[in-house]
Amino acid sequence: SDSHFPVPISPSQVDYSLHYPQLFPSSGQADSSKKIQFADVGCGFGGLLISLSTLFPETLMIGMELRDKVTEYVKERISSLRIANPGHYQNVSVVRTNSMKYIPNYFEKGQLSKMFFLFPDPHFKEKNHRRRVISPFLLDEYAYVLEDGGIIYTITDVEELGDWMKSCLENHPMFEALTEKELEADPVVKLLSSATEEGQKVARNGGQTFQAVFRRIVPTNQA
Ligand code: SAM
Repeated sequence: SDSHFPVPISPSQVDYSLHYPQLFPSSGQADSSKKIQFADVGCGFGGLLISLSTLFPETLMIGMELRDKVTEYVKERISSLRIANPGHYQNVSVVRTNSMKYIPNYFEKGQLSKMFFLFPDPHFKEKNHRRRVISPFLLDEYAYVLEDGGIIYTITDVEELGDWMKSCLENHPMFEALTEKELEADPVVKLLSSATEEGQKVARNGGQTFQAVFRRIVPTNQA
């Protein structure tokens, strides 16, 4: 249960030296200049983060994963990559946590520029829809931790869940869809289906995917 993992009481208590020891050798806390900017929510085995780490070497990023063994696997994967490639993969880390409860403990208002929800668990039954990682309520929270212009990337192979995530985003006043042109120009969009373990499995099986990529905006009546 949740009591088995520590949760920082606020974003300022997140120990950056544990996650990024080469970049934060002494002080435990983040200095004001460098904070985590990408969050991969339900990161699974970490394939996306590993790709993003080299694509955005100056950006700090973290995976949030509920399963203990999977989190340990990702930790080891990162530390092996750091050993094999000195100076690289220093900007990527993972934490075991329940993202549905603790996002605001990790990130302050406007801190994140990208959030990823790749192949989340579908929770098919209607009574379990409240467990979905994209919901009207949780989108309020994501809008809070995302900077203005920050992007939410979602993808799934479950059509019904894809429709659900898209309609939650469409109906939220703080999000707008990226245009086709913007999607094409964004190198990260190509990784959604190719970089994660789940995406690769779906591709191997020739499955269809459904993505929704939205930007956090300032609603016009508040601008
Ligand atoms: N994103 C990865 C990928 O595309 O390969 C993993 C997809 S996997 C189907 C969904 C992952 O979300 C699982 O590893 C699961 O443990 C994790 N997860 C589910 N609920 C979570 C929560 N509340 N907080 C953090 N992780 C969660």
